[in-house]
Parts: sequence; C-alpha cells; structure tokens
Amino acid sequence: MALRNLVLEGDPLLRKTSRPVEEITPRIIKLLDDMADTMYFEGRGIGIAAPQVGVLRRVFIVDVGDEHGLIEFINPEILEASGSQTDNEGCLSVPGKTCEVERPSHIKVKALDRNGNEFELEADDLLARCICHENDHLNGILFIDKSVDGKIYKTENAED
Ligand code: ZN
Repeated sequence: MALRNLVLEGDPLLRKTSRPVEEITPRIIKLLDDMADTMYFEGRGIGIAAPQVGVLRRVFIVDVGDEHGLIEFINPEILEASGSQTDNEGCLSVPGKTCEVERPSHIKVKALDRNGNEFELEADDLLARCICHENDHLNGILFIDKSVDGKIYKTENAED
C-alpha cells in the first residue's frame, strides 16, 4: 500500500490540463494502485483524479459504493450527457468546503482500462456526478467553480 500526498486547492497544479496517457506503463499501473489506496485511506473519497496526487495525466478512479465497485478510467471521454441533477459536492483537494453543483443525471463515457482495453459505461445519478467531477479535474476545473448559487459552505468537520 502506498499513499500519495494530496494536492490541495490553491496549488496551481490543480488548474492545469492533464495530458493523455500514451502508453500504459508500470508507472501508470502503480499510479492507479496508489490512487485507490489514497482514496480509500481518506475514507470520505468516492473518486480521485491523477492531478490530485500531482500527476498531470488523464486518469481517474471512482467507487461510489454501488455494484460497479472500483472503476478505473484512462483517457476518458464523455460521449453523451443528458438530464440534470443538483446536489452537494465535496473534494479531497478542497477539504472542509461544499457547495451545490448541477450535473447531468445521465452520461455515457468511454475510456481505457488498465489493460488498454476500451470500454463504455452508462452512468446515472451519483455515479454520473462523480465521473463528471473527476473528469473536470483533468481540465483544471474544481467543483467550487460551479456553485449553482455562487456560495461555498464550510462543512461541519472543517478544521477552522
Ligand atoms: Zn475532486
């Protein structure tokens, strides 16, 4: 098990656009494994993107606790988005803050898995929200940029 340090809001790395993975090397596999360790260690995480551990590659993972379990995405592309849902979001890189964000309620996404095989996935509700949130990280976008009412709230377990 290997934990990686989380990059936090304010670090310019979170605002950069990540580059596609050209080849799935052992480094990328290790990155995926470490990202999962880091996400589960933090407990409250249901997704994490590579820039959040300081790697500007188009890679993220999600596990919203449904029947899909852990899903790994390399070079993801959102092919379709429809419907709308608005709910609270948080982020491991933005501790102690939450806000309401509008997302599509249904998406279709394609990506490569760790073996280099392309897959397509249709996702609804929380899974769709989580995938959109993580995909935004690859483009330097944070959920706090998308607050529907422009307000950012402190969560109860905020340190200050
Ligand atoms: Zn996030």
